[in-house]
This record gives sequence, structure tokens and C-alpha cells, in this order.
Amino acid sequence: MPLTRTHPLKKRTQGLRRVSPKHAKAKRAQGKAYQQVAEQVQWCESCGRRERLSHSHALTQKKWPQFANTPANIFLLCWPCHYCFEHDKRRFAALSPDVWARKLAAIKALSPEQYQLLHIKYPDLVPEA
Ligand SMILES: [Zn+2]
Repeated sequence: MPLTRTHPLKKRTQGLRRVSPKHAKAKRAQGKAYQQVAEQVQWCESCGRRERLSHSHALTQKKWPQFANTPANIFLLCWPCHYCFEHDKRRFAALSPDVWARKLAAIKALSPEQYQLLHIKYPDLVPEA
């Protein structure tokens, strides 16, 4: 049986949307969370720089989307410090022991399982829970 259109295509009046309603909602939630972070700190929490700031998630957005907009999971870091955290945890922990400890506390509170895994991977950097 041939497939034939039984209803005409709906005409768009304003062209294609730039973002989907779902994406727009996610962006609003993110903006709200980032605003809450900005009320607490306006500089890199690690080195104090005010340029090239970015939001660093203790628990990654990809693996833990449920905590992507949780202010306790978000830290303000400049790009060099953010990069260091992402790629060299050992160096980050040595350079910024206080931020490292706060990130660990956030991970421990939000995902005790992940904290345990980190402890196994970095027994010298992550104290036993
Ligand atoms: Zn920094």
C-alpha cells in the first residue's frame, strides 16, 4: 500500500526555531544555576583570575545530567585551572587543595558511589569516606 499524505503539512509562520522548547528549557535552568553561582563568586576559585572564566562541574554534566544545574556541583574556574582539573587531578589537588577538598565534598554528598571510585583510583588524594 503506497504511503500518501492524508493531512497537509502545517505551514510554519516564523521559520524554524533556533532551539527546541526542550533545549530552551534546559538553557533557562542552566542560566538560573549559573546566576546562583555568580552571586557567590566572580573569579576563579582556584587562582583568583577574573578572565576566561568557565563553569566546572565536580560531577560531569554528561555522566550526571541530573546534577548539571545543581549549584553545589558547579565551581567557577578560569580555563587554565579548569583544564588542569579535567586533565591532571593530581596537579590540581596540589595547586588548589581547598578547591579540591570542596569538590570532593560535593561529589561525596551528591554521589557516594563516585566518591568511592575516586578513592580507589586516587587513594592518596581522596580520603576514605
Ligand atoms: Zn584559575
